[in-house]
Amino acid sequence: MPDRYYSVEPIRGTTATLAGSEAHHLLHVMRAKPGHPLVLFDGQGGEYQAELTHCGRSTVELRIGPKLDIEREHPFELTLAIALPKGDRQRWLIEKAVELGVSRLVPLRTARSVAGSEQASSKLERYIIEASKQCGRNRLMQLAPPQKLAELLSQEASSIRILAHPGGGPFAELKLNSTENRTLAIGPEGGFSDEEVAQTIEAGWKTVGLGSRILRLETAALALISAVVLR
Ligand code: SAH
Repeated sequence: MPDRYYSVEPIRGTTATLAGSEAHHLLHVMRAKPGHPLVLFDGQGGEYQAELTHCGRSTVELRIGPKLDIEREHPFELTLAIALPKGDRQRWLIEKAVELGVSRLVPLRTARSVAGSEQASSKLERYIIEASKQCGRNRLMQLAPPQKLAELLSQEASSIRILAHPGGGPFAELKLNSTENRTLAIGPEGGFSDEEVAQTIEAGWKTVGLGSRILRLETAALALISAVVLR
């Protein structure tokens, strides 16, 4: 796969200009010269063959070739609502969520979550773009505003909704069809409270256990995402 670059501006017409970190990478890391081929995407679906035509000091000009209608999405919407872990683990989680095809990430606020641990959304967006460049996704994972568990429970009725909780029901008993949307909730390090678990069940969610060990929340997220996408 040739190098992939992301255009913040929607791609229209036959030319484009890249600035910021994308231009920096081409100019100073790749040391690319006019004629350098690349793939460009704008996160709204599809990708474009492109070629570098001019190097500025901090921008590059591109000629845009044909659009290829390539999507690397699941045939269902996949929402991950998760109490984000701290520091570097946040970046790691976002990267893996993008790779595994999560379509929407909701930073989740729960009774036991640590308020304000989310990094600035501009940083999180950057992680999403970097991971999408690497894994070939042409649609960006959507980053929703932080939500309280109660708000989440009142939505998403059009998907199968699964809450990971130690001691929850067996995954094998879930009925998942191949195109049904999936919404997953993972709790903070302190876990969901008994009251929260009762509320989710009341709201029609399924609770699922992921084995007899207590997993870090990002491990639990990856295990559950993998299970619902491979099913
Ligand atoms: N201290 C908590 C565990 C928190 S782990 C307790 O003992 O209950 C953080 C989150 O990861 C949990 O809220 C849950 O969503 C998920 N998780 C971790 N291990 C799990 C397991 N074995 N089964 C299901 N979910 C798990």
